[in-house]
Amino acid sequence: MRYLITGGAGFIGGHLAEALLREGHSVVIVDDLSTGSENNIAHLLGIPGFEFIEADIISMERLDNLVAGVDMVFHLAAAVGVELVVRDPARTIKTNVHGTERVLSAAIKAGGVKTLVASTSEVYGKSAKQSFSESDDLLIGPSTRSRWSYACSKLLDEFYAMACMKASGLPVIVSRFFNTVGPRQTGMYGMVLPRFVSKALAGEPLLVYGDGEQSRCFCHVLDTVDALLKLAECPDAVGRVLNIGTTRETTINGLAELVIERTGSASGITRIPYDEAYEAGFEDMRRRVPNISAISELTGWRPQRSLEDIVDDVANSLRGAAANNRC
Ligand code: UDP
Repeated sequence: MRYLITGGAGFIGGHLAEALLREGHSVVIVDDLSTGSENNIAHLLGIPGFEFIEADIISMERLDNLVAGVDMVFHLAAAVGVELVVRDPARTIKTNVHGTERVLSAAIKAGGVKTLVASTSEVYGKSAKQSFSESDDLLIGPSTRSRWSYACSKLLDEFYAMACMKASGLPVIVSRFFNTVGPRQTGMYGMVLPRFVSKALAGEPLLVYGDGEQSRCFCHVLDTVDALLKLAECPDAVGRVLNIGTTRETTINGLAELVIERTGSASGITRIPYDEAYEAGFEDMRRRVPNISAISELTGWRPQRSLEDIVDDVANSLRGAAANNRC
């Protein structure tokens, strides 16, 4: 099979490309390297069946031809990271909405190329439910708070994917990623785990935003990739919206303590208010736990890797990157 991964030089895309190549498929990646990085795919360049095209999916002329030449599209290209979203909400909306529109149109023009659209747990917004299910009502904050532009634009992508299926019979799958972490993730756009581990390895204080009692469920990127592979092979996943994440919940304070313990660091923890970390009036989610029974029942997928494994993998990857930089 031949796959197109938009945003394939991103953190998840690079790992997905690697897994598909390992299974003997061919992979073409389109990425404008705005937030993706060649570091995520450097080890794949030169592998037979792998192609990287540096281009923006919104303006790229060849997109229709490219989509027509593959069996399936993983549409992962999107604005990434809460800090970036808050800094530039206009870019977030444009990238997410226009990019998805172009990819889905190309898939329709090509006669109905199966497309997985990556969405996000952000769409659950401020819901206070114990765990979030795909059919839940969604509670997004006001449009005067730029954070919510991400959830809203991704939600429009979901609606558009479903509309394309209804109007043109396009086979689509929507995946909602919960916090995904692992080797090669950058902390440049706000992600907490690579930031904590970098600080711990440098012996500097870990910066916890707010009171640190907000919680998240962190899923290893290799588990996320397994879920994507299973969804791609599952005919009954077509037309579905599916959560991908783990159900082990940890507070950000707990994560900071675990990182310090696993890395053997002498770092301390510094708490700073949200307004200072992001912008005045920033709204965070207190909890965010997925219900993963839908994907489990459909594909048998369940995440396998523990949070301890994840922290160790991220620490090893950052130690390796630091050693390479010194060479
Ligand atoms: N966070 C933090 N310190 C950081 C980065 C993030 O305390 O250096 C907090 C952030 O406010 C949020 C949680 O960690 O409550 C997860 O943040 P991340 O950006 O990784 O993902 P989110 O769940 O916000 O999409």
